[in-house]
Amino acid sequence: MIPTEPIGSIPRPTELIDAIGRLGDGTDPRLEPLYDAAIQETVRLFEATGSPVISDGEQRKYHNFLTYTVEGLENTAPDGFRIPFASGHMRRVPRLTAGPFRYRRYADKFLEQALRHSTVPVKQAVISPSALSLMYPADGLPDYSREQFIEDLVNEHVTEVRRCLAAGAHSVQIDFTEARLAIKIDPTGELLASFIDLNNLALGRLTPAERLRVGVHTCAGGDRDSTHSADVPYEELLPSLFQLNVTNFFVAMAGERDRESALSNIADNLKPGHRVFIGVTSPIDSRLESAETVRDRVIEAARFIPLHQLGTTDDCGFAPFCDDRSTPRELAFAKIRARVAGTALADQALSRP
Ligand SMILES: [Zn+2]
Repeated sequence: MIPTEPIGSIPRPTELIDAIGRLGDGTDPRLEPLYDAAIQETVRLFEATGSPVISDGEQRKYHNFLTYTVEGLENTAPDGFRIPFASGHMRRVPRLTAGPFRYRRYADKFLEQALRHSTVPVKQAVISPSALSLMYPADGLPDYSREQFIEDLVNEHVTEVRRCLAAGAHSVQIDFTEARLAIKIDPTGELLASFIDLNNLALGRLTPAERLRVGVHTCAGGDRDSTHSADVPYEELLPSLFQLNVTNFFVAMAGERDRESALSNIADNLKPGHRVFIGVTSPIDSRLESAETVRDRVIEAARFIPLHQLGTTDDCGFAPFCDDRSTPRELAFAKIRARVAGTALADQALSRP
């Protein structure tokens, strides 16, 4: 069977988003019953889609997929790196104001809660070291060098990945959405190359057995039905992406303008032992894909990628930022149902042509 997995986030229930906004802090103890209810319901509805691997829908990442490890740290300020989206809005990364750099929380805490309710394998998404490296100020910090920061950052990332694997994650997915953005910021490719090097430095500390259960997700960003780097040609990203020392690649594809050339580029850069999960549904598109549309996208991908290296996924999470209300929960689960059903149809068509 062609494997199929989600990326991670599911839109939070409206009551939860409202309550987080009202209480002003996602860690307020009064939110606990709402988190619990959201996670239980998300796991139940996720399993009902038939997806053989699910997530907790990131219901507890109360800011977003990017900064959940560092929200609330005292040695940060809100005015850090800017991520501008095509629709005109902007998200920001916190700025580190002093060393040492430590995570405030690790994602295995979220995973453990989901596993208590789940009867199928659960994957866990974590943020890349390269994304958090954007927290270090360009003009440096007194008494805390960039080198020391990178060492602390890599240690924290490796600790988080290992904790998730030890807690029983089906796999750990490193969210690397800033990869394509890096080319937009720095068309010379130097920033992207530094991101790849940093992430490989962390991945190199895992054992080969651990790396079999680790993957990386790339996309053009997905927030309020908008993207931050869809105009960057995939050809400028993919050859570098496949230099990452991981097994699984989760690559947005459904929303691409020129899927054939992107798939051809993947085929050129894919190595033995890699598996590439191709995006077959688009979370930022309000139109629901049919199972037949998904099937045709999988068959299209199979013209370029060997079947034993092919999987399917969604192009991105359905709400990487907690307060994103652009996609109804019901639509997210309907798209996941289409992904699962369409992948099964493609499996039948490809195994019995
Ligand atoms: Zn994404």
